[in-house]
Amino acid sequence: MSIMNNGIPVVQNFINGHFCKSDQFIESIDPSTGKPWMKVPDSGKSEVEKAVEAAENGFKVWSKTSPVERAKVLYRISDIIESRLEEFAQAESKDQGKPLWQARTLDIPRAVLNLRHFATTVQSDKEIAVIQPEIGVLNYTVSSPVGVVGIITPWNLPLYLLTFKLAPALAYGNTVVAKPSELTSVTAWMLCSVFKEAGLPPGVVNMVFGYGSTVGELLAKHPNVKAISFTGSTITGKRISQITAPYMKKLSLEMGGKNAAVVFEDADLEQCVPTLIRASFLNQGEVCLCTSRIYVQRSVFEVFIQEFVKETIKKIKVGAPSAPDTWMGPLISKQHMEKVKNYLKIAEKEGATFLCGGLDVDLDLPPENQNGYFISPTVLTNLPDMSFCMQEEIFGPVTCVVPFDIEEEVISRANDVQYGLCASIWSKDVSRIYRLAQEMEVGTVWCNTWLIRNLHMPFGGVKMSGVGFEGSDASREFYTVKKTICVKT
Ligand code: NAD
Repeated sequence: MSIMNNGIPVVQNFINGHFCKSDQFIESIDPSTGKPWMKVPDSGKSEVEKAVEAAENGFKVWSKTSPVERAKVLYRISDIIESRLEEFAQAESKDQGKPLWQARTLDIPRAVLNLRHFATTVQSDKEIAVIQPEIGVLNYTVSSPVGVVGIITPWNLPLYLLTFKLAPALAYGNTVVAKPSELTSVTAWMLCSVFKEAGLPPGVVNMVFGYGSTVGELLAKHPNVKAISFTGSTITGKRISQITAPYMKKLSLEMGGKNAAVVFEDADLEQCVPTLIRASFLNQGEVCLCTSRIYVQRSVFEVFIQEFVKETIKKIKVGAPSAPDTWMGPLISKQHMEKVKNYLKIAEKEGATFLCGGLDVDLDLPPENQNGYFISPTVLTNLPDMSFCMQEEIFGPVTCVVPFDIEEEVISRANDVQYGLCASIWSKDVSRIYRLAQEMEVGTVWCNTWLIRNLHMPFGGVKMSGVGFEGSDASREFYTVKKTICVKT
């Protein structure tokens, strides 16, 4: 962190293998104190143009390397991140607000795994060949990289989600211009020094920092960027879909969710309650896969909410991200905190009962964290299905628990939202689990568990939660183009 601007360290764009000077900046705020801690380039057209040109030149080299050579570089990158895990974890926690233990055990190790996973899968890639002896022809397919790929990522899991896209893009021979969230750019910038150390050729990954409305849109609309892989809100995903339409780009859009859990009376509550507390409040509820609607069968509703609220109050300690006993840190920004508070005010007006948390909780924070963006874990009930908090993505530590009576009813109620990212079902009845999992309009259904993610499995959403999937086969599909070749012998 050697370069400073008015006494604050600055993040630098990384174009064609070089860190570049900027003269306009966005302040990056430490959400646990409300004070600026870094400055991020406020880039524009000229930086995007240079980055795309560098990526086009880089493509001429990188697309000609073998999968084995590319895998070697990806393994090197992953090894260097792993060797600097503590440094990355500290930066991710400070920049995003997540507890340090979480960055150490989840975010950064997962970034390492993403790189290793795609380095491994690319080496066992297969093509299809079909012989038609009766007419004497051999048909086969070849897959080629798409070209320059634009990667646009959100602030909730910065390095984790960036590497989930970068790793397959690079493994399959593409070059990249990436635009991380302007709110959390620091670990992406640190990653660029890892690229240099690992010997990634210049121009293969270019990082342009700045706002979505400028850098993001310029990248999405650039005619030489052949594919856009985006993770973020549904509203931005729709915008990207509109502005890229004339260019016929490949598009992968991973967007918002309003995820339901369905708890039947035969569920093992000893497992279900702690898992759904984690599902509701992990990363301050700022994970697209977090649960925010819990439907509980009426016969166990009272027992469930008693246990759920008691354990939430006991377990979810809100505090400074670096404190070892903190389970939940601050929300990402003042603006986001105000948005979540506004949802709680609407819930009050809609007649919600606050079982814990809410707007006026004294969080007992250290003096340096008094201006941080903290909200108490909040559990609501008595909300109609069509209420704001049961329909809209809050993306904060707020979950709604409501009763249901029978299976058919809960399926239609759980599906009655615009989103379709994931769901969880809790029951010991295997037939019921099987039936319900089929009926859920989502991309992933967890049964008696949550957030177990196998990178081979397709990951994505349906309805307003997504277009396209990611994971071994799905990512290969997205980051390559196919050609069929028919040879007459
Ligand atoms: P966001 O849509 O505001 O921003 C995401 C990224 O898009 C940022 O880099 C932003 O700068 C950029 N961007 C904003 N406007 C743009 C535009 N007009 N053109 C191009 N780029 C633009 O989302 P966020 O607030 O950073 O993240 C939270 C959202 O992300 C939530 O809705 C959450 O559900 C979603 N999310 C989804 C998944 C998933 O896998 N489905 C994973 C994580 C987060």
